[in-house]
Amino acid sequence: MKHVRGPLCSIDVGERTTETEEIDDVLESAIGGRALGTKLAHDRIPFDADPLGADNRLYFATGPLQHSTMSFTGRMSATGVSPLTDGLLSSNAGGFLSRNFTGTGYSVVEITGVSDDLVIVHVTDEGVEFEEVPELAEATVPETCEYIEDEHGLGSEHTTVIGPAGENQVRYASIMTSEERAFGRGGLGAVLGAKNVKAITFDGDSTREVEIPSLQMEIHGEAAQSDSPMRDQGTTSVTEYANMVEALPSYYFSELSFEGIEGVNGDRVEEKKYKKGTCSACAFACKLPTRDEESGLETEGPEFETLMAFGPNSGVDDIVDVMQSNKLCDVYGLDTISTGDTIAAYLASEDEFGNVDLIHDLVEKIAHREGIGDTLAEGVDRVHDELGVENWSVKGMEFAAHDGRTLNGQGLAFATSNRGADHMYAEFYPYEYPLVDADDAFDKEGLEGKPPKVVELENINAIKDSAVVCKFSRDFMTDERFETLLDADYEELLALGGEVVSLERHFNNQRGFDRGDDRLPYEDQIPDFEQGLAEYYGERGWNDDGTVPDTQVEGSSPAPADD
Ligand code: SF4
Repeated sequence: MKHVRGPLCSIDVGERTTETEEIDDVLESAIGGRALGTKLAHDRIPFDADPLGADNRLYFATGPLQHSTMSFTGRMSATGVSPLTDGLLSSNAGGFLSRNFTGTGYSVVEITGVSDDLVIVHVTDEGVEFEEVPELAEATVPETCEYIEDEHGLGSEHTTVIGPAGENQVRYASIMTSEERAFGRGGLGAVLGAKNVKAITFDGDSTREVEIPSLQMEIHGEAAQSDSPMRDQGTTSVTEYANMVEALPSYYFSELSFEGIEGVNGDRVEEKKYKKGTCSACAFACKLPTRDEESGLETEGPEFETLMAFGPNSGVDDIVDVMQSNKLCDVYGLDTISTGDTIAAYLASEDEFGNVDLIHDLVEKIAHREGIGDTLAEGVDRVHDELGVENWSVKGMEFAAHDGRTLNGQGLAFATSNRGADHMYAEFYPYEYPLVDADDAFDKEGLEGKPPKVVELENINAIKDSAVVCKFSRDFMTDERFETLLDADYEELLALGGEVVSLERHFNNQRGFDRGDDRLPYEDQIPDFEQGLAEYYGERGWNDDGTVPDTQVEGSSPAPADD
């Protein structure tokens, strides 16, 4: 099996020490990315670690495909214990960082401890340096990127950065890279903020030989020739369809379609797009640099999920207003879905849907934890009682779109996901809209035949996050292509993906997670939900209570660290 190469670089920002460790035995069984981060985290983070304490660790990792020039590989992975869900999770960002990370020569970089002072950590192929930067306290993401460019000559494609939201430990703060791309969902930005790390830079010329089959060029060529609507409208190309089939949460989840959709659909986004946008090496180029000529506002996006949260779910029907919300989240370093949904919860409680001035003000207040922003910075799960609204979250994570009340299989996938209500964990929704060939599609209603498919999709997505290959490669990456690129049987890859999911679940079980956490606010609207959940556990070989037998994960993670 192909795998990433290079040692682990472990950085203790409290002690200001660095250790380099050869981990070939782990790499050989982990491919890279999420599998690598998960195996290390399962072994090296204490099961009772405070997500915002010194014991929590963050793992940044690429995979073998970051040594290629193949489309869909401009991404990398971050792993740690989430302050939003309280469970182990991985997050995946695009942009241009991955190739600069591989230039350091490390397969994975671990951040542990807590620094007394605000620091930037510089990681290169020649070692690690710490720079105290008290003057960057509360600096925005663009301000921090500008400082690093001016002082060190490193563009934002070399950086991971947090904004004020991360420093103030907003539970859904993102780690930003390439200025506008996010390691989003789950608050890993708050983990970095709690460690007093404002930024990490990655730079170097190290090369490690990972032979990638010539198939990569075929895939690259197909991506460049593709006529997918995503190449014009990105993920927003699904907006009208989601609205039509009633899978688009609106007015804080009280409705499933939006009467003002014409103002915030994919066509409106495309009208604002002023150039092509992409990630490293990707000819598919689905990103969305947008500009409003009238106001001069420029941002990247909104993507579909941002559009849902700050558009229909907040009662907003003007794309420029959504663009402004998107921009503010990027500037302050906030996850757009959780921020939009949490603000929508507040709008519901105050009967203020559509008040765009209030929405933009709340984004800033959340980032700085000012006034009501301090409450909303905790996320829907922790504050819905205080607001007097329903709890639209799973395992503490706010819902993405592709609503499970209409797409029942996606509903089950939201419930079982170790990350919470995240649409990318299994990505069941394309099979139910459907956006796939009719032969592969499922009816929207019910769970018949779906639990084994949820398992398969969770497993293959864990492999995509480990290789690392973008999930929007769906139409290009056949089973055979995975086998050729990664030099492994598809079944072997699915088994490794399943191992990653079980390791995450096992870690979370030790923190108290069980079947009682695999719940949905609308599970009574999904026929035979309990039976579907039981079938899912059975497919995985887990216990009926949603826990993983210890025997299933024995030998999955590496030998214990000295500390
Ligand atoms: S498909 Fe889009 S998100 Fe994925 S790597 Fe290419 S440009 Fe980036």
